[in-house]
Amino acid sequence: MVLGCVIHGQGDLRVEELPEPEPAPGQALVAIRYGGICGSDLHYHRHGGVGDFRLREPMVLGHEVVGTVVAYGEGATGPAVGTPVAVHPATPCEVCPECADGRANVCRDTRYLGSAARFPHVQGGFASRIAVPAAQLRALPDGLDPRRAALAEPLAVALHAVRRAGAVKGRHVLVTGAGPIGCLTIAAARAAGAATITATDLLPRALEFAAAAGATSCVRADDPDDPHWPSEGVDVAIEASGVAAGLDTCLRRVRRGGVVVQLGMLPPGQSPFAGNVLVSREIELRGALRFHTEFDDALRLLAAEPSFDALISGVRPVGAAAEAFALAADRSQSCKVLLDFA
Ligand SMILES: [Zn+2]
Ligand SMILES: [Zn+2]
Repeated sequence: MVLGCVIHGQGDLRVEELPEPEPAPGQALVAIRYGGICGSDLHYHRHGGVGDFRLREPMVLGHEVVGTVVAYGEGATGPAVGTPVAVHPATPCEVCPECADGRANVCRDTRYLGSAARFPHVQGGFASRIAVPAAQLRALPDGLDPRRAALAEPLAVALHAVRRAGAVKGRHVLVTGAGPIGCLTIAAARAAGAATITATDLLPRALEFAAAAGATSCVRADDPDDPHWPSEGVDVAIEASGVAAGLDTCLRRVRRGGVVVQLGMLPPGQSPFAGNVLVSREIELRGALRFHTEFDDALRLLAAEPSFDALISGVRPVGAAAEAFALAADRSQSCKVLLDFA
């Protein structure tokens, strides 16, 4: 029996039996073990959409999945049957100008697991068995526990954001928002050699996770008198909260001529921002979306760093998906929550 986690509309999440998937030519059949609940999954559940994308039909959620190869469809090859694998969630078109330019993460015609960006929606990975293009499979590096490997997708997002920032070695990096993506961005900045990493959040528990990820200083975002605010402008600021106030903090706290990376997905429509600060201090504002080859870098980094386990704050069986989603949404106690499909 294949159990899947299907979103039918705002607030209507169901665990239901799905038809047994058949791998088409070029596809692999994967038995999913763990799936990480992402902020975007929570948005589909709570708001019926994420960013500017709305749900228009039932969709299996999930794009942070790890499992084992079960079989291949006609003509498909990849890691041997039985190999533990992570699934790269993107299938770029490979022919558009962005793909040709090596920027497949902004491909105009990509297919991304569990995303309503196109119609029909691309069904996601929160199911006990899924069929995906075999080219999306990545064998786990030796010794990498599948549970930790479930962080590969969000860590790849974080590695890409740090890459977009440019040089961070020896620099001071500010990360606003210490949810799972913010914490993984802190870990990615640390891995890239940042000398000082300041994290901000409204919640004490989130800042504890930030410290575990490698933040050297943690600040209550709502307390202008917090003594841990950087005394000088930071070199790089990465906005990972997805709220306009976070972007404002980044623009006001970055040094003259510094770089701000907007990584968090802001609310739909327009967001206010301090454009004149951008001009008068000649700040570079850059967007960061998803990732491309950083997925492989993420798997290597996870294999080398057991400390990432501290960011997995809960694991729940797929049958308790509603509870798992509520737990993941409760930032006063959770960082990354996984569903277990075994
Ligand atoms: Zn994600
Ligand atoms: Zn493309």
